[in-house]
Amino acid sequence: MSASQPAPANSADAALADTAPAGRYAPSPSGDLHVGNLRTALVAWACARSSGRRFVLRVEDIDTQRSSAESAERQLEDLAALGLEWDEVLYQSQRHEAYAQALGRLPHYECYCSRRDIQEAARAPHAIPGQYPGTCRELSAAAREAKRAELAQAGRVPAIRLRAQAREFSVRDRLAGEYTGEVDDFILRRGGNVAQLPEAGPDWAYNLAVVVDDAFQGVDQVVRGDDLLSSAPRQAFLASVLGYPVPEYVHVPLVLNAAGVRLSKRDGAVTLRQLRQTHSVAEVFAYLAASLGSQAREAQELVETWGAIPREPVVFGGL
Ligand code: GLU
Repeated sequence: MSASQPAPANSADAALADTAPAGRYAPSPSGDLHVGNLRTALVAWACARSSGRRFVLRVEDIDTQRSSAESAERQLEDLAALGLEWDEVLYQSQRHEAYAQALGRLPHYECYCSRRDIQEAARAPHAIPGQYPGTCRELSAAAREAKRAELAQAGRVPAIRLRAQAREFSVRDRLAGEYTGEVDDFILRRGGNVAQLPEAGPDWAYNLAVVVDDAFQGVDQVVRGDDLLSSAPRQAFLASVLGYPVPEYVHVPLVLNAAGVRLSKRDGAVTLRQLRQTHSVAEVFAYLAASLGSQAREAQELVETWGAIPREPVVFGGL
């Protein structure tokens, strides 16, 4: 925490400053882990352990429609089967209070726009593709009241957006170097149809949850797929606004299928569970290690011999 923004005592949102720094793996439990997921997990684990860090897991299960407890359990079993060991597991579905506390510390406003409103505003000259045009940023109190009532009539609740004080932010990535990305008034809590909102609580945005949880778990090294590089500037900006240290980023090239597209479950036998029907775990491990330029036969050996992270994506065409 920065000196200017001490966390309140006993806050669920407080960073655990007294725990040793950690690296992490944060899967979404919406299916079995495939070769690409497992390779990223191994890199995250080797980077953390070879640098003397703790290694923590986070089950990113706030999207209740896509997540299941059964899938989370299977993912942890698969990581253990590969020989990974972790110091703790945090479940995002248990963290509503922490996200609410963080929201309370952030400048934010309600947004009443539908997806269509945003798309139409984005067609205006000078609009930056994908960036929220700020339609609801400066509404008067009376206008807000009217919009809120209109939405309530339709059975909907507004989204909540960050009132961002920056247009862009830079992060350091061990592979990509200095990376600058746009920051806009991104969503902190999704709105929508009341009837469709998750029963468990508000529909928190990934960008908020990931930042709050990385700080809470003492994560100072974020290793993940390079499809998330573009979200790093927003997350680092959010961390800095909350007074959290910004982690080091390592965005790892993804595993691709034979057509050069990011590997997915549609590509056939790609999950550990599928591969185990015809191969031993040791064979799958050896393949993953080789794809990282290592001859290691098991997880601890990978840590002990850990070198540079390969910069090129690998193609998986089967074992
Ligand atoms: N849960 C995300 C995923 O499985 C990863 C988020 C992160 O590592 O920051 O794609």
